[in-house]
Amino acid sequence: MGKRGQKICKFCDQINGARAYTCKKCGEPFVMKNGRIRYGKKPIQDWTTLKEGDCFRVLSRSGDYFIRQATGDKVHFATTGKYRVKEITYKDGQPHGLACWGLGGRTSGYYWLYMGEQEEPYEIGSVCVRSKHRLVRIKDPFEK
Ligand SMILES: [Zn+2]
Repeated sequence: MGKRGQKICKFCDQINGARAYTCKKCGEPFVMKNGRIRYGKKPIQDWTTLKEGDCFRVLSRSGDYFIRQATGDKVHFATTGKYRVKEITYKDGQPHGLACWGLGGRTSGYYWLYMGEQEEPYEIGSVCVRSKHRLVRIKDPFEK
């Protein structure tokens, strides 16, 4: 237990305010006094704390995009929807992607989401850019 007025996340040790219902760092929900669990709407601060089986949603206007050449607008084409974590993937020892499963509806099957800090073009000269996705933790839709 934390000091009065604090909650400490048992998954990542982040100190949170007493009234937080999810950890601000990893999005893990705290169990309320009445046994209930609630999820916040804030994006996960540190996505590398996600574990296999955790569920999340991809926020719109985040993730991969292309530049519409006529207007210079960014057009995001990541599928906003619900996913379950399979594993974190690494490049040169750094976490840089999330392998996951779509949970139905708009998403199904296997996905890999780019999570690197630096944006990178799909290939040299491509108008498509890999860009970090913004995620929100959600309740497992298959859990009763
Ligand atoms: Zn946490």
